[in-house]
Amino acid sequence: TLPRLPVFEAIARHDPNSTVVVHSNSGRRFKYGELLGDVCRTRNRLYETAGRDDIDGERIAFLVENSYDYVVTLLATLAARSIAVPLSPAFPAPELQYIMNHSEALMLLSSAKFAPKAQDVLKTELDIEPSYLQLTKFQGGGSHEKVTLEKTFNPGSAGLMLYTSGTTNRPKGVLLPQSVLTAQARSLIQAWEYSPSDHLLHVLPLHHIHGTINAIFTPLFSGSSIEFLFPFNADAVWKRLAAPFLTPDQTPDPDSQSPFTQREKVTFFTVVPTVYSRLLSTHKSLPVDIQSAARTAISPANLRLAISGSAALPTPIKRAWAELSGGNVLLERFGMTEVGMALSCGLDVADRVDGSVGWPLPGVEARLVDVDTHQVIEKGHGRDADGRERVGEIQLRGPSIFAEYWRNPEATAREFVDAKDADARGQWFKTGDVAVRRPVETAGKSSAPSQKDWARGDMYFILGRRSADIIKSGGEKVSALEVEREMLALPQVAEVAVLAVPSGKWGQKVGAVVILDKEHLPESGRWTPLDMRRALKDSLANYKIPQVLKIVDHIPRNAMGKINKKQLVKDIFQ
Ligand code: ATP
Ligand code: MG
Repeated sequence: TLPRLPVFEAIARHDPNSTVVVHSNSGRRFKYGELLGDVCRTRNRLYETAGRDDIDGERIAFLVENSYDYVVTLLATLAARSIAVPLSPAFPAPELQYIMNHSEALMLLSSAKFAPKAQDVLKTELDIEPSYLQLTKFQGGGSHEKVTLEKTFNPGSAGLMLYTSGTTNRPKGVLLPQSVLTAQARSLIQAWEYSPSDHLLHVLPLHHIHGTINAIFTPLFSGSSIEFLFPFNADAVWKRLAAPFLTPDQTPDPDSQSPFTQREKVTFFTVVPTVYSRLLSTHKSLPVDIQSAARTAISPANLRLAISGSAALPTPIKRAWAELSGGNVLLERFGMTEVGMALSCGLDVADRVDGSVGWPLPGVEARLVDVDTHQVIEKGHGRDADGRERVGEIQLRGPSIFAEYWRNPEATAREFVDAKDADARGQWFKTGDVAVRRPVETAGKSSAPSQKDWARGDMYFILGRRSADIIKSGGEKVSALEVEREMLALPQVAEVAVLAVPSGKWGQKVGAVVILDKEHLPESGRWTPLDMRRALKDSLANYKIPQVLKIVDHIPRNAMGKINKKQLVKDIFQ
């Protein structure tokens, strides 16, 4: 028996013969019907390894590749009412040591593939000596056994602990109890309409909210299938998308590089902006037949939903994708480890306005709090008396918001608004991201009201992180994201990071690090910072145009495509 968690109830209801996981490379397939049996067996091995069958609330860290085994391991830890701590195999041992110690992990699990990595971690100095378990690989084709769920609902402390991307500081442990995971999944299913006919192509790492909740936990809830293709490789993704389907009378052969069934047509794709950018830049060098088959595969008629998030989506990428795919407009959303997905554009194409992250998702309550006056900006009051847009920090509350930072009550207290400002709906969480709200008519959306009741009212536009993206220069506030957007609109600019550079005279000045697009440079090949500043004159007020510019070949990003701007300023301008 397994605890009666909503995710297990959902899985038990899905058609047992439908596919839950496909391994893209080997063509191996796993069915919903075998999943809970494998979860149960793995949970029992956790009990054996711990030497007891009460590990409620203990942290179980694991290193498992993107595969069916990862899904089983994640669910087995929940089944033990413990807290899953997925580790990134790409992290060096000292980073993993930090997470092992910080989470006070009772156990370390690994797949055979990552056993050497696990041994490296075990050799580091750990505060608690964890028990180690090497998991056996599931082969697929397991039996469809009936797994019973406990009669009463008793989730214990079952949950997931994810570490933030560490873009601004050391990663923080974010505790997401199963109730929060469930609320996030339900909200996303309502907004993005995941269904049993969706097939999701999964190319993201699995130690972040994007890859785990949007692309595993929620599909499991809705009965969709997940195909793992990892590590991300643009050519491999295009080849997969362009692969022909079997005819209905053929059956896929699990031991060959078998093609895919019609049911495995990729309908759902959710990634970070840099993945779209890499796909766009490699498409033109594919063999011609693959090029056109791949374009067909990403057309709106086939790829139902292509989502971008985790970092701001540059409008040129959005436009180029729409052009390549024959009108598939990327849907942008805003989320963070602490809150899951919070704001999103809508399923109607008219509800995907350039530069906007849309509206609060179902169940999420959002407000903007003026960064200067600390007053709540009332809905419909996006401008002050001088006509300036009011810039506010996004604050959120609702059942999908996290409970606490692990073993860090100071940070928890700091990031939540005072309890006295709370009511029955809970306490507001300060995201640290600032935004403006614009009425739909001026936001660039046709004024036809959305079909969806949640996707209504003023739309949110992210200006960036309060700590790194709001540049205070001589009394003016400049949004790094806005400047980046305008710079990326120049054909000569391939990539850019706009930074707050310390300045004796201005406090901070606007700085930019740029990668040029070689294909769009003038014949002379010369394009100087001065040319760039001239080109920006029409689109940006003078005080927003970068005063210092550095042209580089590479901008460092972490696994989620994010830039540590404080570090970059130090490296380049100090
Ligand atoms: P750390 O908190 O450790 O510094 P992090 O904030 O990058 O790292 P995540 O929780 O993975 O860790 O990322 C959340 C952040 O990503 C948000 O606070 C926001 O700044 C950024 N983000 C997510 N989606 C978008 C988006 N659509 N547009 C702009 N920024 C986004
Ligand atoms: Mg953060």
